[in-house]
Amino acid sequence: MEKQDLKNLTLQELEAFISGLGKERYRAKQIFKWLYQMDATSFAEMTNVSKEFRTTLEGKATVGNLVPEAVEASEDGTRKYLFRLSDGQAVESVLIPDEDRNTLCISSQVGCAMGCAFCLTGTFNLTRNLTTAEIVNQVCAVKREAPVRNIVLMGMGEPLANLGAVIPAVKILTDPDGFQFSTRKVTVSTSGLVPEMAELGRQVTVNLAVSLNATTDEVRSRIMPVNRAYPLKELLAACKAFPLPSRRWITVEYVMIRDLNDTMEDAKRLVRLISNFPCKVNLIPFNEHEGCGFKSPTRESIDRFHKYLLDKHVTVITRSSRGGDISAACGQLKGKLDQQQ
Ligand code: SAH
Ligand code: SF4
Repeated sequence: MEKQDLKNLTLQELEAFISGLGKERYRAKQIFKWLYQMDATSFAEMTNVSKEFRTTLEGKATVGNLVPEAVEASEDGTRKYLFRLSDGQAVESVLIPDEDRNTLCISSQVGCAMGCAFCLTGTFNLTRNLTTAEIVNQVCAVKREAPVRNIVLMGMGEPLANLGAVIPAVKILTDPDGFQFSTRKVTVSTSGLVPEMAELGRQVTVNLAVSLNATTDEVRSRIMPVNRAYPLKELLAACKAFPLPSRRWITVEYVMIRDLNDTMEDAKRLVRLISNFPCKVNLIPFNEHEGCGFKSPTRESIDRFHKYLLDKHVTVITRSSRGGDISAACGQLKGKLDQQQ
């Protein structure tokens, strides 16, 4: 029988696993704390677990781990980590320092099937889903080097297309016996998979970011094929229905692309579209990458757009492009996929 990687299990599942081995359930909590609070990578380290039980565990289970194969540091302090997975695939995570509030951006899939026209990850299609262990191990690995305040699932992949692994990962991240991140410090970003948004909200308490990126169905369907299945009206209704952690807002991400979605008409439509649910807008100037015909917006059009939203009392930030010199900015993550294809 294949051994169980304990990092694939939520606390509840670990309890069931441990009682299946004939041990008291409270042992699960001890082990869970070893994994995520003490960062144990072997059973030998778990010194408050009896030697005998550690031997039993060795026979039935493993503790997965990830070690960065390469780390690139940007001039602005952003760090990009490349992780090689056991089957040779690779994913990336990005640590974005901001005074004392480091944000770690993690991946949920190798590649992505959603096919957004402006996104580099999307051009590589989906290779496979990450496991829960592979998702949480990105956090374990980076935390060894730097404190991490916020987690965003905004790296490679569409997290809601991998709910089976993402939901347990969110549970582990926010479990008081696990990583202990407040539910307000963990954000899942989606391109707009409407049924899965509802499912996520039913299963966990977490922040939601929605990549809106256009203000008409015509333009959105052109750059985000997902819009043909779930057009704006349905997506916005799903935003309104999403159960947020207390006093929270949905983050509306809006990648600004020159002459495509950066006009004042877009700004006006955007204000109308988001008027009936609590949200804040992240304007993200498009990061150009090779082989993609889209262009970054001009500084003036960003400023004009930003100011219009402010004047309409919309909470807005324009995300400065971080890590541009190491291709660690949004939508530029691709692992080593290019070399493999
Ligand atoms: N699949 C999820 C999360 C990963 S993409 C989603 O789409 O939300 C994370 C963010 O990067 C999304 O908001 C996406 O619109 C944005 N993005 C993708 N490519 C980009 C690019 N070239 N420049 C700027 N932002 C980009
Ligand atoms: Fe996938 Fe998000 Fe890129 Fe779209 S923007 S292709 S959903 S990673």
